[in-house]
Amino acid sequence: MRVLLMGPPGAGKGTQAEVLVQDLAVPHISTGDMFRAAIQNGTPLGLQAKLFMDQGQLVPDDVTCGIVRERLVAPDCRDGFLLDGFPRTVPQAEVLETILQELQMALDVVIDIQVSREALVQRLTGRRICRQCGAAFHVVFNPPEQPGKCDKCGGELYQRTDDSPETAENRLDVYTKQTQPLVEFYQTKGLYQVINGEQTRQAVLADICRALGRGA
Ligand code: ADP
Ligand code: AMP
Repeated sequence: MRVLLMGPPGAGKGTQAEVLVQDLAVPHISTGDMFRAAIQNGTPLGLQAKLFMDQGQLVPDDVTCGIVRERLVAPDCRDGFLLDGFPRTVPQAEVLETILQELQMALDVVIDIQVSREALVQRLTGRRICRQCGAAFHVVFNPPEQPGKCDKCGGELYQRTDDSPETAENRLDVYTKQTQPLVEFYQTKGLYQVINGEQTRQAVLADICRALGRGA
């Protein structure tokens, strides 16, 4: 299954992807995670991406499409994948079409997780991430059993620098301007499905599974 998970920052894409990729047995391709790994490893890609990420701006399309192309041609993507946070612009979506055509593949479904702006700001500013395994927690909505410590692997939890109130607001504006036009792009292709993301994590998962034609 080839799934694209879209939705604004904080909608719950990463949270849902973590469970879905187990169920679908496909790789989770998150461009945000790939950029953060590059930053952590101090690579040239990381240095370049950081300049944009710290401002809440998108990393340029050519850079982003380059890393996605490299990832999608890997053998583990042959039988499916879950894209999370890519594409985020119409030009990126067009490049994705080209890459998939070259690989004789096509997307099966585009799932858009929708959440109100007010809730998104609360989710982003209270988000905590595990440094070791990347799992997402929330200080109020999904608190870890021990403050500052990951329930899954015991790793240290940290707050992303781009989850500050100001940068979070910027990212939501960027989403509206640059990513929202993808709705029409995928509606036209008949792939687009909306999910109400303002429910419990379990209820969101159940709705996504239904949209994918699978039991929760
Ligand atoms: P995204 O990957 O779309 O940016 P995340 O999956 O990281 O979003 O979720 C953002 C924050 O919201 C995290 O702190 C997460 O724990 C929390 N969260 C995710 N899903 C829900 C939900 N259904 N209800 C409340 N909080 C949620
Ligand atoms: P995310 O982890 O999906 O919230 O992404 C974090 C940041 O990484 C974004 O605010 C962008 O700066 C950058 N980023 C992630 N995915 C993309 C993309 N598809 N295009 C451009 N920039 C991206």
